Amino acid sequence: MKDNYGREISYLRVSVTERCNLNCIYCGKDNCAKKDRELSADEIFLLVRAFADCGIKKVRVTGGEPLVRNDICEIISKIRSVDKIEKISLTTNGVYLKKYAFSLAAAGLDSVNISLDSTDGSTYRHLTGSDVLEKVMNGIDEAEKAGLTPIKINAVLMKGVNSDGAGELINLAKSRKIDVRFIELMPFSDTGEDKSMIVTGNEILSEFPFLKKPVTVEGTAEYYTAEGFTGRVGLINPISRKFCKNCNRVRLLSDGKAKPCLGSEDLFDLMPYINDREKLADRVKSVIQSKPQGHHFEKKAPSHGLNKTGG
Ligand code: SAM
Repeated sequence: MKDNYGREISYLRVSVTERCNLNCIYCGKDNCAKKDRELSADEIFLLVRAFADCGIKKVRVTGGEPLVRNDICEIISKIRSVDKIEKISLTTNGVYLKKYAFSLAAAGLDSVNISLDSTDGSTYRHLTGSDVLEKVMNGIDEAEKAGLTPIKINAVLMKGVNSDGAGELINLAKSRKIDVRFIELMPFSDTGEDKSMIVTGNEILSEFPFLKKPVTVEGTAEYYTAEGFTGRVGLINPISRKFCKNCNRVRLLSDGKAKPCLGSEDLFDLMPYINDREKLADRVKSVIQSKPQGHHFEKKAPSHGLNKTGG
């Protein structure tokens, strides 16, 4: 269905947990919080079905780290069983991907985005608090073998932290069919609120002039090709080039509250309606109709970390 600004809302991001096995410096204010209660796989089915009743066609499972849930494959297969959901993808830090890639594909997952901010071991450890780069690289290989494609790597560059490794990250798109996407740092933590650390999309284009136009726009990303590259390089610029006017997404948090926009403080509790399909769909419609025209990260940082909202 359309929201109040004429945008067709067809994409739901579902955070299945706030828990995470990493502790990235830019992610959240309440990093790696342990929740008393998370939605069960059955509850996720009922809630996703209500969103599908209102026009949602694509679901992204995120967190926290979705692969810390032991029932992640059951969650995926329940979502797969919802009529009208055409595509399911998942965003992960990749640490447990080697273990889960084939079972996730068998459960009905279509593709994965893997967060990887550096290919250098010590920078990776500094960014995430863990020495698990090799596991992530193995996870990427396994996801490719399991056919969870197109594989997308998400990286957040920060000046003075990992920006000097951008070329190495871009190289991952050279010989493999992997899209490497750079996301501008958003204000979700003390690090995120330091604007001087942001590396903008334009700065990346000037540093790597071999990234060629024409640009293909897919969702929030602008994709560039380079001669001799198999994959592409994507730029996601929520700060320097706000894309709110094309935003087609709403969010469901791991406690059953819905959020109309990444930047908004409004939360809509869906749990009181979970056993009444019609009332639940009405509540979901209110969520979609409450979607603001745009975020205002430039004026005010959101009070929830990305681990809560789901990145
Ligand atoms: N644990 C999963 C992962 O690591 O991909 C999913 C959750 S994580 C919050 C989702 C995405 O949010 C990651 O790609 C991460 O890089 C991005 N992210 C976290 N904090 C960010 C920030 N301050 N600015 C931009 N992106 C951020």
